[in-house]
Amino acid sequence: MESLYIRVSKNIGEQTRRALTEIEAIDNDLKIKREYDDLLIPVLRHIEGYETCIGDFENVIKDLSPADILGFSPAYEQIGDIAIIDRHQPKAQEVAQVLLKQNRIKTVLQAETSVSGEYRTRSVSILAGEKRTETMYRENECRYLLDLSKVYFTPRLSTERARIADKIHDGEIVVDMFAGVGPFSILIAKKFPSAHVIAIDKNPDAVRYLKENVLLNRVKNVEIREGDSRDVLKDIKEADHVIMNLPHSAIEFLDVAFGIVKKKGIIHFYAIAHENDLFDSILKKIGDIAGKYGLQILPIDKRIVRPYAPYQFNICIDIQVL
Ligand code: SAM
Repeated sequence: MESLYIRVSKNIGEQTRRALTEIEAIDNDLKIKREYDDLLIPVLRHIEGYETCIGDFENVIKDLSPADILGFSPAYEQIGDIAIIDRHQPKAQEVAQVLLKQNRIKTVLQAETSVSGEYRTRSVSILAGEKRTETMYRENECRYLLDLSKVYFTPRLSTERARIADKIHDGEIVVDMFAGVGPFSILIAKKFPSAHVIAIDKNPDAVRYLKENVLLNRVKNVEIREGDSRDVLKDIKEADHVIMNLPHSAIEFLDVAFGIVKKKGIIHFYAIAHENDLFDSILKKIGDIAGKYGLQILPIDKRIVRPYAPYQFNICIDIQVL
């Protein structure tokens, strides 16, 4: 198809493409062409400072998204090569057939319950594709094997896990009190080989996968403890960081965290809060509990991690203990 285009040297191709994208000047329906050491970028109008020519360009073939095919946006989450459709999604079987045609999706599950119980798991049924619930998920250059019917997992915390890993320093002691299959612990251990990471979970299936994932990612500095965090941390006194990723009930374990964190150490505390009172009430409760142990707290970061439910947010407060 005939279009206006500009010719730029390949060396400055990417920066020019970005600059043109910013001013919405590129014709995204057409493919950029390469000619010797130049790129020919199809544009929608004359661009000041460039000589504009006319030439023939091929159309970009765009994959249709599930929403394009179905005529509505289905609610689902992809973890590795498995898609899990929301339990309230109508026409789930139709959605499953469409998802199965998507790149990389080999199995489609439907959530039968919400995430619940002490182990934070949900029941799922297999709707289409390969009959399995185990998958390999990649995040932040780590790999995690996990069974979606037996353990907790969400890809929606990947940025948060990277943020926490950025706060750690080599040589520090990190306690991940509710470690699941290890996405905080393993990332930190990989990034800081001289850190010592203690990862705890009560769910035997989560611990089985945690052990597998430690081997899979070849990290040598994760100490795994199976059991209740309340019982298995009695020997720890000087943790630099304590990760409390159990948002619905972390508050009940704060006494344990205060007992193991060292002075000036940091507790990464997760909770679910209403939009009208995201941090104040929770901070007050944390301060009161700290007071009982003769400690003071300094909130050094407060953030919304992700929306959780209508008007409810998953939040994190990084608390320095003084
Ligand atoms: N941090 C992991 C992640 O990001 O995927 C898992 C978080 S999940 C919300 C909470 C985990 O805490 C679950 O794997 C659950 O089995 C575990 N858990 C719940 N109560 C526990 C307790 N008292 N002691 C240790 N682990 C517990």
